[in-house]
Amino acid sequence: MRIARKRFGQNFLTDNNVIDRIVNAVDADANDRVVEIGPGHGALTHALFSTGCDLTLIEIDRDLSASLRETFPKTKLINKDVMKIDFATLGDAPMRVVGNLPYNISTPLLFKLLERGTLFTDMFFMLQLEVVDRMTAKDSTKAYGRLSVMTQLYCQAEKLFDVPPEAFSPRPKVQSAMVRLTPRSQPLISESTILEEILISAFSARRKTLRNALKKLFSTPELESLGIDPSLRPENLTVDQFAACAAHIASRRT
Ligand code: SAM
Repeated sequence: MRIARKRFGQNFLTDNNVIDRIVNAVDADANDRVVEIGPGHGALTHALFSTGCDLTLIEIDRDLSASLRETFPKTKLINKDVMKIDFATLGDAPMRVVGNLPYNISTPLLFKLLERGTLFTDMFFMLQLEVVDRMTAKDSTKAYGRLSVMTQLYCQAEKLFDVPPEAFSPRPKVQSAMVRLTPRSQPLISESTILEEILISAFSARRKTLRNALKKLFSTPELESLGIDPSLRPENLTVDQFAACAAHIASRRT
C-alpha cells in the first residue's frame, strides 16, 4: 500500500470484521444501484461488487482511480471531486450511497446530498463519532444542535456502530462510527435559509430561554401561538417545532 495522502483524508479500512459489518448493513443486491464515494484501495468495493449491484465509484485520487480501473475494469468510475458531481446526472433515481468519507468534506457533502434527498434510497457513511452523535441526537440532550436539526429535517438518522482508530491504516486521531441516513420522501421544511437563521440564533445562545434567544425573530405571543413554551431552552425544541417556526416566518414574509 502506498503512503496515504493526508489532503484527501486517506485512512484506509483494514479490519475485515468492520468491513463485513458495513457491507451487511448495506445488504445490497443485484437490483440496487450503489454509488461508493472514495473507494480508495477498494476495502468495501470488492464486497459491494460481488453482490452484483449496479456500482458507480467516485474517487478523487488519480493513482487510486487508475488501480481501481484495473481491478474493476467494467465498473463505472468517476475520477473527480465528489463535491463537483451533480448526482442527478448519474442516472435514474433511486440510488444507495456508501462511503468511508474524508472527514474534512463530510459536513458540506452531507448537506449537498441531503438537499437532493429524493434521489437516494439510503446512505451509509463512516464519520467521526462526534459528528454521528450530533447528527442522531434527540432533543433535550447535550449533543442536540444545528447539525441534529438540519439532518433530521431531511432524513431519519440512525447510528449503526462505533469503529475504533485501530480499524484503519493510518490510524485517525478520533473515534469513528457508521451512520445510516434514510431521506424523508417529504423533507419537513422547504425554507432552509430561514431555518438556518433560526438555528443560528437559537444555538448560539443555548443557555438563554427561547423568548430571549429568538426575540429578534418571534414575539412571545407568536411562540405561544405555535404551541411553544417561551421559557424552554433552544435544545428543548423538537425538530418538528423548528420546522413549524420556519414555516411561520415564511408565511409572514409572503
Ligand atoms: N473506502 C476506502 C476504505 O474504506 O478504505 C477509503 C476511505 S478514505 C477515508 C477516503 C477516500 O475518499 C480516499 O480514497 C480519498 O482519496 C477519497 N476522497 C477524498 N476526498 C474526495 C473527494 N473530494 N471526492 C472523491 N473522493 C475523495
